[in-house]
Amino acid sequence: MPLKITGITVWQVDLPLEHPYWLSGGRLKFEVLDATLVRIDTDAGISGWGEGTPRGHTYVPAHGPGIRAGIETMAPFVMRLDPRRVLDVERAMDLALPGHLYAKSPLDMACWDIAGQAAGVPIADLMGGGSRTPRAIASSVGAKTIEETRDVIERYRARGYVAHSVKIGGDVTRDIARIRDVESIRRPGETVLYDVNRGWTRSDALRVMRATEDLQVMVEQPCETLDDIAALSHRHACPVSVDESLVTLQDAARIARDGLAEVFGIKLNRVGGLTRAARMRDIALAHGIDMFVMATGGSVLADTEALHLAATVPDHNCLGVWACQDMITADIAGGRGPRNIEGHLTLPETPGLGVHPNEDALGDPVAVYK
Ligand code: MG
Repeated sequence: MPLKITGITVWQVDLPLEHPYWLSGGRLKFEVLDATLVRIDTDAGISGWGEGTPRGHTYVPAHGPGIRAGIETMAPFVMRLDPRRVLDVERAMDLALPGHLYAKSPLDMACWDIAGQAAGVPIADLMGGGSRTPRAIASSVGAKTIEETRDVIERYRARGYVAHSVKIGGDVTRDIARIRDVESIRRPGETVLYDVNRGWTRSDALRVMRATEDLQVMVEQPCETLDDIAALSHRHACPVSVDESLVTLQDAARIARDGLAEVFGIKLNRVGGLTRAARMRDIALAHGIDMFVMATGGSVLADTEALHLAATVPDHNCLGVWACQDMITADIAGGRGPRNIEGHLTLPETPGLGVHPNEDALGDPVAVYK
């Protein structure tokens, strides 16, 4: 059956956060996310949806308006390609626009959605087989004080969450106190990740990780670069997760080869979408590295994309997903799609992505390419 891309329609949507959210020791504040939604149409009448929603402009080098500009540049190069041939689409995008992986992920996602619908199976099954074991959603505890941290964790526990990403990375003494306090209230079966979001210098990192060595807590992205993380790797006992420094397949290979992390935090928008993220998954599995999978931010569409990749990770190696749906006040899909049930997301059985937005909720498109 021939199948060709015949049109790309782009929407911009603001997704307000229910509570303002701080990262990296309070350096970075977020109140609204700039989402780009993309619908790819085909000559077979199948349409696929993609989303790219960075966490503001300050979190990592990803830019909401840059996604839309990137799509404008890449659209003529992918038009008329068969979207099921995701490698052809990837190469066409790379030819049109080197780098800018975050601008490519929504197009890649929409192509996988079309491919799944055309094959009549969920994306995860098309990728080789998706686990139906529900995936734990990690909360985001962006608080500052011990009391606020306890309050936010309780708020998430009330919604069933059993995994928490506690944002630290500010004052060293306060970070140590917060880690000790959270560990003191941690329940059996709860997973807690302490996410520094690059906020520590090398000496900060050593001070906190050595002061909490008896707890052996998992620390995510303690410093700015892989060089920093490498410099510390033999000087503390904490398991390390890397997410913001995991961008390319070369990063994944280096982290695995040099033993820089025990966990990959794969951010689909950051790494360029499912096609590229699947290669990182395989490097991780080949080296005994566990995974968290997340979109970066966005609506239930972005959460669902992450869930599909997470479903292709063996249950034992998947520590969880991160979903933004409980943090934003806008719902572009009217309650459809995988939703938080007792702190977990379950893979949809609908072919393709498994959830599409209400187009009426998106307003007028900002661009249409034919
Ligand atoms: Mg993180």
